[in-house]
Amino acid sequence: MGYSALKIFKEGLFGQKGWKPVWRNPEPKAEYDVIIIGGGGHGLSTAYYLAKEHGITNVAVLEKGYLGGGNVGRNTTIVRANYALPGNSEFYSHSLKLWEGMEQDLNYNTMMSQRGVINLFHSDGQRDAFARRGNAMINQGDDAILLDRDGVRDLVPLIDFDNVRFPIYGGLYHPRGGTARHDAVAWGYARGADQRGVDLIQNCEVTGIDIEGGVVKGVQTSRGAIRAKKVAIVVAGRSSQVAEMAGMRLPIESHILQAFVTEGIKPILDQVISFGMGHFYISQSDKGGLVFGGDLDFYASYAARGNLPMMEHVMEAGMTLMPSIAKARVLRSWGGIMDMSSDGSPIIDKTETEGLYLNCGWCYGGFKAVPGSGFSYAHLIAKDMHHEPASQFRLDRFRTGRGLMDEEGTGSQHNLH
Ligand SMILES: Cc1cc2nc3c(=O)[nH]c(=O)nc-3n(C[C@H](O)[C@H](O)[C@H](O)COP(=O)(O)OP(=O)(O)OC[C@H]3O[C@@H](n4cnc5c(N)ncnc54)[C@H](O)[C@@H]3O)c2cc1C
Repeated sequence: MGYSALKIFKEGLFGQKGWKPVWRNPEPKAEYDVIIIGGGGHGLSTAYYLAKEHGITNVAVLEKGYLGGGNVGRNTTIVRANYALPGNSEFYSHSLKLWEGMEQDLNYNTMMSQRGVINLFHSDGQRDAFARRGNAMINQGDDAILLDRDGVRDLVPLIDFDNVRFPIYGGLYHPRGGTARHDAVAWGYARGADQRGVDLIQNCEVTGIDIEGGVVKGVQTSRGAIRAKKVAIVVAGRSSQVAEMAGMRLPIESHILQAFVTEGIKPILDQVISFGMGHFYISQSDKGGLVFGGDLDFYASYAARGNLPMMEHVMEAGMTLMPSIAKARVLRSWGGIMDMSSDGSPIIDKTETEGLYLNCGWCYGGFKAVPGSGFSYAHLIAKDMHHEPASQFRLDRFRTGRGLMDEEGTGSQHNLH
């Protein structure tokens, strides 16, 4: 079903009775050309681009829960292309371009809002580092503006510029960055994939991966065995567990990241702001809620809920940045399981098992990667060749040490990325 202003108008006149479910609810077939394990943002976009770009439609996405119930529906929706290192830089740049055409491509309102992202800096040294990052972004063809203190004040007058621990010296402004509605992104890709013949199978947990003589043959699931010529793992926080089914040990740790939203208030914040105190970042949703988050909970876990000390720390950071938000009431908090790689950069690669592919390691930055990751992963699966913008995301860099992309310069400790 296509969406148009005329269709919305007609449905309004006739009691909204003509809308149909956005995707089918098929039974799994005995065999597929490609099985994608995981119905998150990356799995759904992979299925969509496999069908759209490569004409491969005998595809199933197997999701153990419901589509969009994982991190894709739990993030703080920030989209940006402000990476500095070769490898990451071209990939996120490509992904942002796909974001900019996504609504037209999917014919779905994903509420993409390029309201700008400002990373605040708090010392001369940090200014130098951000100037360098901004130059890398410009070299990549993206946009970056180094703002001084007054430049930040013009855009965000409400923040406290003189707090003692983190005085605001300025900010790196990325105008094309912004936010999008996360679950709409999952639904838009799901709808596009379904329309092209992909089977989206919910409540279907993969419990084993069948391999014979080094070649993948299919998967075992809670709804029976399904054969496949190719199997693609893309399960974010569960990557280590699913890869273990194929005898692999990944350079990934799973950690919890929490986020929070307040009641709706009048517009006070036009951009997305990040603040040095504990990785804190904040934006205001279209409904008026302040959406914010901070650091990981600092221990490995598979529980999709966070701890109280981190909650307190995030609240303190928010209060320190914008004391005026003190009276806003927090409505909800939630957590998601992050697939933290040990250099902070992702993996999109083949594995040593023929026909088995791996996509993971997105840390807490994988929402902005949803279109780019799906595009590149589909290319790899279809052609058995790396897609150029994602060609550095090799798994063997963790074994050989060559090609590591430590964007944050924090070394090999997973929870610091
Ligand atoms: C609080 C929070 C804030 C964040 N903020 C941002 C942000 O502002 N910007 C940004 O770019 N990124 C952000 N992220 C990160 C981003 O959400 C993730 O990196 C990204 O969504 C992960 O990819 P995904 O969407 O495919 O994951 P998911 O949606 O988690 O998809 C993986 C799916 O695999 C399924 N699965 C797992 N095991 C199995 C199995 N055995 N069989 C079948 N299915 C299985 C899961 O149920 C899940 O649905 C944030 C994350 C969190 C939690």
